[in-house]
Amino acid sequence: MLDLIHAPWSPVQVAALNRVQRSGRMHPFTCGASHPLHVTLIAETDGWHCPDEACDYRQNWAHAFMADPDAVAALIEAKYYDNQEQQ
Ligand SMILES: [Zn+2]
Repeated sequence: MLDLIHAPWSPVQVAALNRVQRSGRMHPFTCGASHPLHVTLIAETDGWHCPDEACDYRQNWAHAFMADPDAVAALIEAKYYDNQEQQ
């Protein structure tokens, strides 16, 4: 089972979380409120925020590996090598 972590997060953890969100390596966390399009959540030290400032949706948990800079780097490097293999 994947371990979960809960906010507050350190700036290093926040950077790793947002890197995963943008990586395309896994489906990003999206806002649970109703929006015309899926809205990718943004990590801040106090948890996930919806980028729509009018939306008060919050999420305070993530998978532990998502906040680990080394795990995130490995995840994104794996994508790089996957792409190399497809060429
Ligand atoms: Zn929202």
